[in-house]
Amino acid sequence: MSRETVGGPTSRASSWSDAPSRDALQLIAEGVTKVAGFGIAAISVARSDGKLEVMAVAGSDEARESLQGRRTPLDQLSRELEKADDWGMFRFVPHERLDASAGEEWGWVPDIEPIDDPDAWHPLDLLTAPLYDDSGVLRGTLAIDLPVDGRRPGEAQRAVLNTYAEQARQSVIVALEREELADQVRMAEAARRIVRRATAQLSFERIIADSRDALLEGFRAAGMWLQTFDQDGHGEIYSADGREIALGPELVAIAEASARQAWEEQSAVVVAHDRTLEAITEEQGRLILEFLDSIGVESLLFTPLGAGPECLGNLVLTRLAGAPEWTESEATAALDIGHDLGRAILNARTFEREHQLVEELQELDTYKGQLIATVAHELKNPLTSVMGHLEMLESSPDLSGTTMTSLHAMERGARRMVRVIDDLLLLSKVGDAENPLIPVPVDLHRLVDEVVDLIAVAAEQKGLQIKVETPEDPVLALGDATELDRVCGNLVSNAVKYTPEGGTVTVRLCREGAEVVLTVADEGIGISEADVARLGTEFFRSSNPQAVAQPGTGLGLAIVRRVVARHGGRMAIRSELGRGSTFQVFLPAG
Ligand code: ADP
Repeated sequence: MSRETVGGPTSRASSWSDAPSRDALQLIAEGVTKVAGFGIAAISVARSDGKLEVMAVAGSDEARESLQGRRTPLDQLSRELEKADDWGMFRFVPHERLDASAGEEWGWVPDIEPIDDPDAWHPLDLLTAPLYDDSGVLRGTLAIDLPVDGRRPGEAQRAVLNTYAEQARQSVIVALEREELADQVRMAEAARRIVRRATAQLSFERIIADSRDALLEGFRAAGMWLQTFDQDGHGEIYSADGREIALGPELVAIAEASARQAWEEQSAVVVAHDRTLEAITEEQGRLILEFLDSIGVESLLFTPLGAGPECLGNLVLTRLAGAPEWTESEATAALDIGHDLGRAILNARTFEREHQLVEELQELDTYKGQLIATVAHELKNPLTSVMGHLEMLESSPDLSGTTMTSLHAMERGARRMVRVIDDLLLLSKVGDAENPLIPVPVDLHRLVDEVVDLIAVAAEQKGLQIKVETPEDPVLALGDATELDRVCGNLVSNAVKYTPEGGTVTVRLCREGAEVVLTVADEGIGISEADVARLGTEFFRSSNPQAVAQPGTGLGLAIVRRVVARHGGRMAIRSELGRGSTFQVFLPAG
């Protein structure tokens, strides 16, 4: 294990949150003081920043206060140890050999007078056991001071001390490993949190871009790539740095099959020279290892991605030679991430499909608009000519009564066709994005008056009363006069058309804040809730037989809806079957 990884990547506070480790070290330190007969024992651990940190102290309160959590450079210890006598696990540096400043540097010098003896312990004597792990890396120290008998320890005492040093060595290694493991879990969990946040996005590329650093750091990986499978079993490969990953077709196939199996077993798998994937042939195993060698990777963590029963891809995190081995906790965290990313793939796919569908629908809508415009144009010219000829015929003398009746009927039919064609042309005009609105202030007051005047005869014939409630002054809206005239005309004519004899139609106009509100209310047949939801869809006519009995095309409200939308306004409809309807249009005030 390299020095950098000792004690985890972050420098930490002097007390461990891991109570069992702390207690174990404290117990050993206390054992040294009680059993081996020393006033003070301190156990330190080596930190990644090259410092020794005191983790457990046994002895006087004063010593504990002064030493606990103290950090001293490792180099300093190494310098002192060079001058030390070898006492088995312990190293002894008599005070005569210490640097003059050593006492200050080591921080705490017991306040004692050496006894009068050739073996007397001097307050500046240094007795420390450097604690190495099995690969020879210094992981900590056990330092002792203040022998109770005031003498440098003899052979027998040194043997006891050695036993404690060995115990301290084991405990320090275990404590550091536990700490390291806790760090790994924390880091992998942090990575998962970040990935989770990133998966709120809808583009898979963005999700990868946003989670990449978290994954590399959280898993201390040198590199990563992701493979996704689509419905046909072939997908895409995304690399961490955007560079292409040269996975040959055989490797892609192996990765895919292995991911499906790993998903089924719900496990993330480590692949290295001494561990390769299960259920693959020797030849396939060789291919994988060759590939790892070719990209200089020592080991990788292979995680399946999926949602529900479906495996959707795999995530590969790589480590280089000398990096620590993948742990169980990392594999578990990676699998959780596999679930998060799996869901993200599904979401991104759904979004993409919907997006495509919307685009197709838009294309279809454009096509429909063009078709309507073309057909309407083509019909308009011959119809104008038909109308002209009809008028000519009607004015010719000596026509019989029946001929006249037929001509009138033809003219009525032709006029109706002209109205439908005009509606179609207007509908395609107001739905055409390339024909933008050029808004000017329009006086809706005047417009309402004109519309009501025009319809007055028809209303009177039906015995309907039209009430107009408008302020005296002009009511200006920002928009196109012709289009707004049609909005008003269509709403008022519908109200008259769908209100039985004797009813009242009210047209109201007012200004509310930055908006102008046009209200057309009637006491007519009303519209069911289901039909209200569909109003404004081209060619939609209500299913109500009373409504169907009236002539109509289902274009009037579609025009209203489109005109209002392109004016940046909105519409509100309230209706009750058999009681009447209220249509309201809100437009930006001029
Ligand atoms: P049209 O009147 O030509 O059928 P519209 O687009 O103007 O087409 O209206 C669509 C449908 O909405 C009508 O067929 C009718 O069923 C219903 N409708 C519209 N206005 C009213 C109203 N004021 N009262 C009752 N139903 C209405």
